[in-house]
Amino acid sequence: MQSSSPVDTAAAPPLRNRADIADRFKWNLAHIFADWAEWQRAYDALDTKIAAYAALQGTLANGPDRLLAAMKLSDDIGQDTYKVWYFASLKYDEDQRDNQINARRQQVQILFAKATQASAWFNPELLGIPLPTVQQWMTELPDLALYRFALEDLYRQQEHVLDENGEHLLSLSSRFSSSPHDAYAALSTADLRHPSIKLSTGPEVTLTYGQYRAILATNRNQADRAAAFAAYHKMYETNVNTYAALYSGVLQRDWFHSQAREYTSTLEAALHGNNIPTAVVENLIETTKTNTEPLRRYHRLRKRVLGLESYHTYDATIPLVDFDRKYPYEQVLEWLPGSVEPLGSSYQHQLRDVLFGDWIDVYENPGKRSGAYSAPVYGVHPYMLLNYNDTLDAVFTLAHEMGHSMHTLLSNAHQPFVYSAYTIFVAEVPSTLSEALFLDYMLERATDERERIVLLQHAIDGIVGTFYTQVLFADYELQAHRLVEEGRPVTAEMLSEIYFGLMKAYHGDALTYDEQSRVTWARIPHFYSTPYYVYQYATCFASSAQLMRRLTIGSASDRAAAIEKYLTLLKSGGSDHPMPLLQRAGVDLSKPETVRAVVDQLDGLVTRLETAISGLR
Ligand SMILES: [Zn+2]
Repeated sequence: MQSSSPVDTAAAPPLRNRADIADRFKWNLAHIFADWAEWQRAYDALDTKIAAYAALQGTLANGPDRLLAAMKLSDDIGQDTYKVWYFASLKYDEDQRDNQINARRQQVQILFAKATQASAWFNPELLGIPLPTVQQWMTELPDLALYRFALEDLYRQQEHVLDENGEHLLSLSSRFSSSPHDAYAALSTADLRHPSIKLSTGPEVTLTYGQYRAILATNRNQADRAAAFAAYHKMYETNVNTYAALYSGVLQRDWFHSQAREYTSTLEAALHGNNIPTAVVENLIETTKTNTEPLRRYHRLRKRVLGLESYHTYDATIPLVDFDRKYPYEQVLEWLPGSVEPLGSSYQHQLRDVLFGDWIDVYENPGKRSGAYSAPVYGVHPYMLLNYNDTLDAVFTLAHEMGHSMHTLLSNAHQPFVYSAYTIFVAEVPSTLSEALFLDYMLERATDERERIVLLQHAIDGIVGTFYTQVLFADYELQAHRLVEEGRPVTAEMLSEIYFGLMKAYHGDALTYDEQSRVTWARIPHFYSTPYYVYQYATCFASSAQLMRRLTIGSASDRAAAIEKYLTLLKSGGSDHPMPLLQRAGVDLSKPETVRAVVDQLDGLVTRLETAISGLR
């Protein structure tokens, strides 16, 4: 970016056939298997191993070497599974129109179901052996001690497992547990009639969710945005009692399961799997709610810059300035290693391996899967799928997925298979940190004020959307669940009141409120599909902000220590629960200061944005 002209007009590459894209922009799946024949041999071998695992049933009580044999075979099956699955799955994503590959992918899914059945005996059989016996075995057989954390965690999870009758009863209830979400999805996708509006420029548009978002993000006429907002929310208003009944079903189900398993609250039940204390979520919510000033400052600044009389939720995503610089992939290849310099030279070298090893599938082609992801193929290396289109969003997506890929690379290199996978609670730390480092790098080199504004807005909108909004969502989920925990009724009016109250608590007088915002809760898919999930985006953001501060501020020796701790976190994979892993990296999510790191980060970015904007005049 340093020497190029501020507005680079290189056009995004046109859609090409896959065969016409140079190999260096495509992933090479021969690193997994040479061809389908080799894949088929691995598939057959896996099938045999799964049968061998089933045959181990009834042997565990015979002693430590039997338990070790079962653990090792399970690892072996797991590793093969990654390769067999991803070879078919990644091939399929190259062109999802290919039915033959799709059939092979489904063939692996059938094998997965078989593996689940073949291993169902393990947990009950293990847990039938007293924990002290297993702990004694681990001292007798050092190889078995490798599995200490995994085994002890199974016993910890056991605390809330019921007797055989109880588990049977719960398993029968699982068939209708998903009904509220299924009905929500049917109502929202199949049955809802999307409204049409006429834009000020003439054309009529149907407001699908994508269209609605596009109008809010690109249409510079406030009246058009207001009309889209009103029509879109009207649709939810019309059905609000049905949504409330469905959401009530989610709340009742969660409370039923929590009580059946003897948890004191739905939050405790949701956090038990990862062994997260409920204080983490409570601290996140409390600290964020009392630190909303930077968010309000940003809204007030936007109102002024956009020259609006009143500022509404539908004004929050329109860009502050127009800027359409293109970022060709080959240019970004130079910048990305530069951006991670604060993480040390060996990290930089490894990042080059990811960039230049034929591990990334860069460009779009007909039939290719949309979006972006990083795939952790244990025993090979991470692969990355992109649909790179030269926009700034595409650049940050690359930086984000690079964080995931580096995490996988380091975890897989330093952990045995059993601990190589990491939880979502930690996963979004390296990805957001990678984006933050890249932003710093770009800001330092931006020579054009407009570009600086676009970069700052990108970073700020990331914090608003991934942190503040998700904490507000978590706050809503917690309050709604507490209604049923306290035996109070759940009505559409009560849910709307909670949501609207939260909007005001977060945004204060920085927004002009529209009555229709009250029903926003009805629309959010996560509330129905995965309750108590979204807070993890916010805790990851807070962890990453805290780490970023340590990595970039302070004496050289402090920074060196911070790098060491951060890399240790990445190398640790899933070898412990997320809280202790993060604590060892210097992040304590039960403390308000960790959450305030994001607040301070936003405050600093808004100040920089104000400066950049005044430089424009
Ligand atoms: Zn991610």
